[in-house]
Amino acid sequence: MGSLYSNVLDLKETGLVQALTSHRLDSQSDRRRFYDQVRLGPEQLVFCQQVHGNKVEVILQPSRPYPYPLPLAEADAIITNQVDLAIAVFTADCIPVFILDLCTCSIGIVHAGWRGTYKLISAKAIQSMQKHFGTKPVNCLVYLGVSIQQSCYQVSQDLADQFERHFGPDVRTSDNKLNLHFANIQQLVNVGVPFESISVSPFCTACRTDLFYSFRVERESAGRLISLIRLLPNSD
Ligand SMILES: [Zn+2]
Repeated sequence: MGSLYSNVLDLKETGLVQALTSHRLDSQSDRRRFYDQVRLGPEQLVFCQQVHGNKVEVILQPSRPYPYPLPLAEADAIITNQVDLAIAVFTADCIPVFILDLCTCSIGIVHAGWRGTYKLISAKAIQSMQKHFGTKPVNCLVYLGVSIQQSCYQVSQDLADQFERHFGPDVRTSDNKLNLHFANIQQLVNVGVPFESISVSPFCTACRTDLFYSFRVERESAGRLISLIRLLPNSD
């Protein structure tokens, strides 16, 4: 039986966080085994009702119990400085964006589909961390998790044109394939995250439905991947 998730190694290696994306969890027992494997109780998991907007939910207090299994609020990004609390997004092709501020030990997670990307949700998450935690973008590590890659993401001419006006010609190909990674990296760099501190998953959800879910490929039958990040308690 294979692993039920992939670790975000760049972030895990800091020793500060647990950060991962689930693989396909097609049954209740898969889901139970996943939560067991990642050693996560339901009371430690917080997520939002994702609406493809750019609102950032800020968790400043250990105000448990959280409403699991219900969403906390309508938002597409969550930031926190609370230890041992997993903040999560659900995706199938959209990008889960993981953020770790190495200096203030605060974290964020973002659901970035084309709508959220266009509304600069990744940049907004960083700016919210600046405001609430004193984060300096230069101290952040960012990981764009498993999602659909440009070669599989053809959109309408109108949408490709709209993205080009916003992010420049390199965001699309002449046959209207959109590079959501490019658009997110650009907005992160524009708010001060160093380009070399951003990394990208090589996996494409649409090419690897053996491992992941893809809305483009599976439509309504697609499940959702869980991406989560949690600040680990001090080991000393
Ligand atoms: Zn692909």
